[in-house]
Amino acid sequence: MDKLTVLITREQIAAKVAEMGKRITADFAGESVVLIGVLKGATIFLADLARQIKLDVSFDFIAVSSYGNAKQQSGEVKLMKDVDQSTEGKNIILVEDILDTGLTLTYIKKVLLAHQPKALKIAALLDKVSRRTESIQGDYVGFEIPDEFVVGYGLDFAERYRNLPDVCVLESGSGTR
Ligand code: 5GP
Repeated sequence: MDKLTVLITREQIAAKVAEMGKRITADFAGESVVLIGVLKGATIFLADLARQIKLDVSFDFIAVSSYGNAKQQSGEVKLMKDVDQSTEGKNIILVEDILDTGLTLTYIKKVLLAHQPKALKIAALLDKVSRRTESIQGDYVGFEIPDEFVVGYGLDFAERYRNLPDVCVLESGSGTR
C-alpha cells in the first residue's frame, strides 16, 4: 500500500503560484508571453499560473521522455512532441513541475534556444536543489524541497496521483528507493 504524506498544501501552492504570477506580470509588463508546459506533469501548475498572469498569454506544450524506470532518470532525454507554434522572437516561459537533476530542462532549453526566442525563462513549481547535476536553475521557483519522491498537483507515480490537490511525499510499499 502506498503511503502519502502532505508536504505542501493546496493553500500554500495557491499563495505561491499567485506570487509567481505577479512577478512574471511585472517582469514582462506591456509584453506578451508564451507558456510552454512540459507534458504531462506541468499541466495543472500551468493552468493555475496562467490565470495569475495579467498579460497577453498563450500556451504551447512540449513532451519528452526520459529512459529508465519511473523514479530514476537514466540521463537520456528524447523529444516526443515539439511546440506547435514557432518560438522565434517570443517571450517564452518554460513551465515545469519539478527541477531535479536538471537534465530534462537543460535539454528542452537547448531545443527552444535553437529557435531564437526573445527571452527564455524557467518557471518550476518545485526544486530539488540537492539532486542537481546540471548547471541550470529556475527563474521563478515555487518551493525548494528535500530529496523525496513527490506526487500530486500534476506529478505522478505510474500515471497515478496527478489529481491530488496537495503535493505529497509518496512512500511506496515496494519498488521505491
Ligand atoms: P530532471 O531531468 O530535472 O532530473 O527531472 C525532471 C523530471 O523528473 C520531472 O519533470 C519529473 O517528471 C521527474 N521527477 C523528478 N523528481 C520527481 C518526483 O519527486 N516526483 C515525480 N512524480 N516526478 C519527479
